[in-house]
Amino acid sequence: MLIPVIKSFSTDQAVEIASLGIQVHGGMGYVEETGAAQLLRDARIAPIYEGTNGIQALDLAGRKLTRDGGEAMTALIDEVNATAEKLKDHPRFAQLGEALAAGGDDLRAAMAVVLGQGQEIGQDAVQAYATPFLSLAGHVLCAWQMGEAALKAQAAIDEGSNDPFYTQKLVSADFVIKQWLPEGRAQRAVIDAGMQCLSDFF
Ligand SMILES: Cc1cc2nc3c(=O)[nH]c(=O)nc-3n(C[C@H](O)[C@H](O)[C@H](O)COP(=O)(O)OP(=O)(O)OC[C@H]3O[C@@H](n4cnc5c(N)ncnc54)[C@H](O)[C@@H]3O)c2cc1C
Repeated sequence: MLIPVIKSFSTDQAVEIASLGIQVHGGMGYVEETGAAQLLRDARIAPIYEGTNGIQALDLAGRKLTRDGGEAMTALIDEVNATAEKLKDHPRFAQLGEALAAGGDDLRAAMAVVLGQGQEIGQDAVQAYATPFLSLAGHVLCAWQMGEAALKAQAAIDEGSNDPFYTQKLVSADFVIKQWLPEGRAQRAVIDAGMQCLSDFF
């Protein structure tokens, strides 16, 4: 079930990150000698080869989700929410826990919409929701892993480590869950707004 998420989401992010790399370099980023433009060209093919990301999204929403009525995805979201509870119980991470739990709830609600509309309208509806659903899943699952990383980093610090790797991991987790996850959660609003099926155009 995670293969389409890993393939599509990480390659879409790679394109965004390589593009941001050019922006950071300013005009020089567009000049070949910096290598930044080549990174973007190299990254841009990844969402196309080995199955395009749109097709991967169809696999996630149209096959992986519907084949068991969302059972496997529900089990995964339960794990996300279990991590959110651990974060909430920790005095340093309560805000991260709240934010991650909200992401998990969004994913659960979006899944219900995709499955419900799939039953009511059919595969056309599932396909129309596929890409925003995959994006939401990618954001929530990455944030979940960063939540786990924050807990492990804090445990290492509590045990006396002063390795900057752990303090940097805490800063990264803060950024990912507070600043970056909300961008992904906006995909729930896209799904809740209802999707115009492709067939409506004809
Ligand atoms: C540099 C490069 C390296 C590659 N390496 C490999 C490799 O190692 N192994 C391999 O197997 N293949 C490889 N490919 C082929 C690659 O898998 C195909 O390019 C890819 O599957 C897209 O097929 P296509 O180019 O025919 O696009 P098309 O099938 O023409 O698709 C065009 C667009 O329409 C969308 N689309 C197509 N069908 C549907 C549908 N039914 N519903 C919704 N949207 C649809 C696609 O997502 C895409 O955005 C490579 C391609 C390139 C360019």
